[in-house]
Amino acid sequence: MNIQKSIEAFKRAKNAIAGGVNSPVRAYSSVDSTPLFIDRGKGSKVWDIDGNEYIDFVSSYGPLILGHAHPRILEAVTKAAEKGTSFGAPTETETEIAELVKEMVPSIERIRFVNSGTEATMSGIRLARGYTGKDYIVKFSGCFHGHGDAFLIQAGSGVMTLGLPDSPGVTKGTAGDTLVAHYNDLESVQQLFDQYGDNIAGVILEPVAGNMGTVPPDPSFLKGLKKITKKHQSLLIFDEVMTGFRVARGGAQEYYDVTPDMTILGKIIGGGLPVGAFGGSKEIMEHLSPAGPVYQSGTLSGNPLAMSAGKAMLNELNKEGFYENMESKSKKIAEGMEQNIKDNGITGTVNRVGSMMTLFFNEKEQINSFESASASDTKRYAEFFRSISNKGIYLAPSQFECMFVSEAHSDDDISAFLEAHYKALQEINS
Ligand code: PLP
Repeated sequence: MNIQKSIEAFKRAKNAIAGGVNSPVRAYSSVDSTPLFIDRGKGSKVWDIDGNEYIDFVSSYGPLILGHAHPRILEAVTKAAEKGTSFGAPTETETEIAELVKEMVPSIERIRFVNSGTEATMSGIRLARGYTGKDYIVKFSGCFHGHGDAFLIQAGSGVMTLGLPDSPGVTKGTAGDTLVAHYNDLESVQQLFDQYGDNIAGVILEPVAGNMGTVPPDPSFLKGLKKITKKHQSLLIFDEVMTGFRVARGGAQEYYDVTPDMTILGKIIGGGLPVGAFGGSKEIMEHLSPAGPVYQSGTLSGNPLAMSAGKAMLNELNKEGFYENMESKSKKIAEGMEQNIKDNGITGTVNRVGSMMTLFFNEKEQINSFESASASDTKRYAEFFRSISNKGIYLAPSQFECMFVSEAHSDDDISAFLEAHYKALQEINS
């Protein structure tokens, strides 16, 4: 592929934007390559500024479960924009989407919309602390909850990709209020509760980890967390920014039948526009201002364009057979990848939950923890990434991200992907 225009665009961007990108993983440094500058997207495809066409499995890191430029979303955003882009006042669309979310995720009796997943997790833990009157938050190594100070401690995703253990700029005081346990290891959580149990406001996790690559929870893990948090009157917080409306209509809490005290949402709920949200029982959420004392606010929160896009998105997801269709497509892709690695004699594991999945270049039999995911061969991933990218497949430039399937992926896209996948594996093996 000729990507000369992208190379030049990146050079130019680096002189104006910090590091040339507005989010670190986009810089492609871990795969030793140049970011593709995107011109446009439609359905399952994106086109870079050199005119190259790619089948997209990044899906904007999750939000685009309907693919790019879906007609219902475009229509909703256009109609909303014609009426004005922001008022700093309530609109009925906010209540309409809130009612839809309540119906789809029944543990949410009240919700608050913000502008990003980061903002939602930051506000969510403030509320957890305000509600319980306790200080500590437990998180898991390899789980990513956005870039709020409290979460940049053994975080996954970009932080993991760049090999940063923690971020400078987070004070010792803030870091000290975050306790870190091991994913899928209840014992490590129990130990923290044995020591700090009286003062733990909440346990936050990705119910399916997506920021160390796709790592599903062991069946007893989520239920065990529910038991421990309940016993210690601390809150179980599911960060469903990635899993919400993706692994099931009602998110991972529906998929695994475990009800959290608080849910964090983002990505899909904005239909591709910037949105985050957090919600839970009426009792907890009414501790939030103006009903209660825990302060939180936002000039653009509940923005009419974002709310309209999100509402249109959720309405599409509610159509009959949507998740069954996503499951059968995703299964076909994962099984095809498994066959390809077998046929090419590659040692690897494909983890999948619903329409999120990762091929780990890894010798471990099971990838079920941060430790096992971290043992992946990132150099091999980088070679694979460059090879498949040259064959017109757009994947995330990191071993520790997911592939996201969208409704727009056709049978032809899936066949073309699996063929390119096979050839890329063959190439890196030769
Ligand atoms: N939580 C999870 C599970 C995420 O995957 C992300 C982003 O990838 C976030 C929170 C942060 O969301 P945002 O990037 O919208 O701030």
